[in-house]
Amino acid sequence: MAPRIPVSVLGATGVVGQRFVARLAQHPWFELAGLAASERSAGKRYADACSWRLAGEPYAGVGERVLSEADPSALATPLVFSALDADVARELEPAFAQRGALVFSNASAFRMERDVPLLVPEVNPDHLELVTAQRRARGWKGAILCNPNCTATVLVMALAPLHRAFGVEAVLMASMQAASGAGWPGVPSLDILGNVIPFVRTEEEKVEAETCKMLGELAGAEVRNASCQVSALCNRVAVIDGHTEAVSVRLRGNPRPEDVREVLESWRPEPQQRGLPSAPARPLVLHSAPDRPQPRLDAERDGGMPVHVGRVRPCSVLGIKLTILGNNTERGAAGGSVLNAELARARGLF
Ligand code: NAP
Repeated sequence: MAPRIPVSVLGATGVVGQRFVARLAQHPWFELAGLAASERSAGKRYADACSWRLAGEPYAGVGERVLSEADPSALATPLVFSALDADVARELEPAFAQRGALVFSNASAFRMERDVPLLVPEVNPDHLELVTAQRRARGWKGAILCNPNCTATVLVMALAPLHRAFGVEAVLMASMQAASGAGWPGVPSLDILGNVIPFVRTEEEKVEAETCKMLGELAGAEVRNASCQVSALCNRVAVIDGHTEAVSVRLRGNPRPEDVREVLESWRPEPQQRGLPSAPARPLVLHSAPDRPQPRLDAERDGGMPVHVGRVRPCSVLGIKLTILGNNTERGAAGGSVLNAELARARGLF
């Protein structure tokens, strides 16, 4: 067996960072070598600095490890998984890429830059090629590779096969987003319990822009965005993990719901064909029960990596409507980022 590749996690104590640690502590290709958080946590044991919120083994078995600062000279691993907030990421991620690391980022800081791949391996694996242009333009030995906003990830997983089969012309999406999407400690309980908050800062703009970039075509050293119209209405609800999205979509040729279901159900993109370790057996799980998917029942299935689709039916305004659900911290964050790294390795980037 090939030796495992050392990796570091930046932001290891946070909501996404904990998911990274749990995944990477037992990954077949990667070895969890470095754990970093802010200077408030650096020097402390992981178990002392982190308020662990996941089921299973506490602190994923690495509670005795000591946290470092997020400093490129202290964390010299070839791969870095970043669960930093955007303002911190904007400053730190380039320093790691300059030093030669491939940085798999969850932050919004670089997602929309022309030479940065915004990747969901099932959706746009070819966009990985932007790394060559990025290295050339920035003179870095490493690179930054982003995964999209969690709400956009869930949406684009359902749209991608429909875009290939028919062409997506217009999308209207209303989200019901989990509290964990706001990080730790998130929205105060007195604000969210028994309530719906009809505003998630900058979320609608991110979903609209990122979806068109991911559905776009690679044209030389950049991506030509898809020309579909996307309108997002984002809401925070009293759910712990799992973003639910009510979607109406206009598809070219106005296909029937049964044709749409067939396309979604038969989708077998590259990560599944290659059998990447974090790829779910089915990227999309189709539900026939009228009251599914539900976050409490479906968000953690298969490691939180599939996107669940239900209630595919006619829409009198745009043609087709459906309900989708995905785990915001796994498929929409840590799991998606690890799958990006697996795709990069499978395609020979390192
Ligand atoms: P979080 O729970 O607030 O965690 C933030 C992490 O960053 C903590 O480990 C914190 O360490 C560390 N940190 C803060 N300031 C730092 C600094 N100056 N230097 C180094 N580390 C620092 O946030 P999160 O929800 O995990 O989100 C992390 C990133 O993922 C964000 O960019 C977010 O937008 C994105 N994202 C989140 C989700 C989600 O569902 N939550 C989904 C997709 C993408 P300390 O414990 O020491 O403060």
